Amino acid sequence: MMVIKLGGAEGIAYDSALEDIARIRDVVLVHGGSAELNRISEKLGHPPVMLTSVSGYISRRTDRKTLELFCMVLCGKINTSIVEKLHQLGVNAFGLSGVDGRLLQGRRKNIIIQEAGKKKVLRDDYTGVIQRVNVDILSWVLQNGMMPVIAPLALSTDNEAVNVDADRAAAFIAGALQAHTLIFLSNVPGLLKNPSDTSTLIDTIPKNQLGDYMTYAAGRMKKKLLAAENALSLGVNRVIIADSCIGSPVTQALKGTGTVIQ
Ligand code: ADP
Repeated sequence: MMVIKLGGAEGIAYDSALEDIARIRDVVLVHGGSAELNRISEKLGHPPVMLTSVSGYISRRTDRKTLELFCMVLCGKINTSIVEKLHQLGVNAFGLSGVDGRLLQGRRKNIIIQEAGKKKVLRDDYTGVIQRVNVDILSWVLQNGMMPVIAPLALSTDNEAVNVDADRAAAFIAGALQAHTLIFLSNVPGLLKNPSDTSTLIDTIPKNQLGDYMTYAAGRMKKKLLAAENALSLGVNRVIIADSCIGSPVTQALKGTGTVIQ
């Protein structure tokens, strides 16, 4: 069993990735959708706001309206079009989000920001962290010959939908399924020493040295490495960060193209 997270940033090549995934089949697919969510949020007059917490983590400010937009774009538009495309490729895909059947359970984050020199807890934010994966649902979908396609929402302990990081969701799901491999298909070839120079790709990272490589990662890539660390600590054998924009990206990643953390 393999878990693939298909990124949501600008430039992700959905079609060629899905064609490859359809050939491979034994896959649980998790997807993002940040670029499309940004576009639609702008169009609907509720532009995205990114927050940096006092501990330095960047997350999307998810007030109730943003949560509704998140569901609309990720569960509605993106999840359905991935499922539709997979069906066109002969795969019986089953779209769901972490809210369905309590697939992903978590808690709302306590986001603390600095405002006018003072620390402030955001009480109305619907961003969450995953605490539990309900593997039985995935097993049922898989045993019935279907491919799960998962949008990154979770259900909080108070039964509220929360926006969760898709990389983390993929890591938790891979850990819960004891997947041998987790692949992050992104818009970059892997972890780069210099993010603007693709010739500086780091091709392998021994898992016990992952912390030393954090310094190369900025912004979202940092979250990816933390998610990789998470997955490995949960028993996943290897994590590969790879480019979605090359032909047969999963096949290539499995041959070692990208950054392999093992
Ligand atoms: P996706 O959702 O497609 O996986 P992310 O936005 O989560 O994409 O992460 C990929 C982004 O991380 C890249 O587009 C790049 O801007 C950023 N990044 C930061 N540091 C690095 C780095 N050292 N190597 C590669 N990408 C990096």
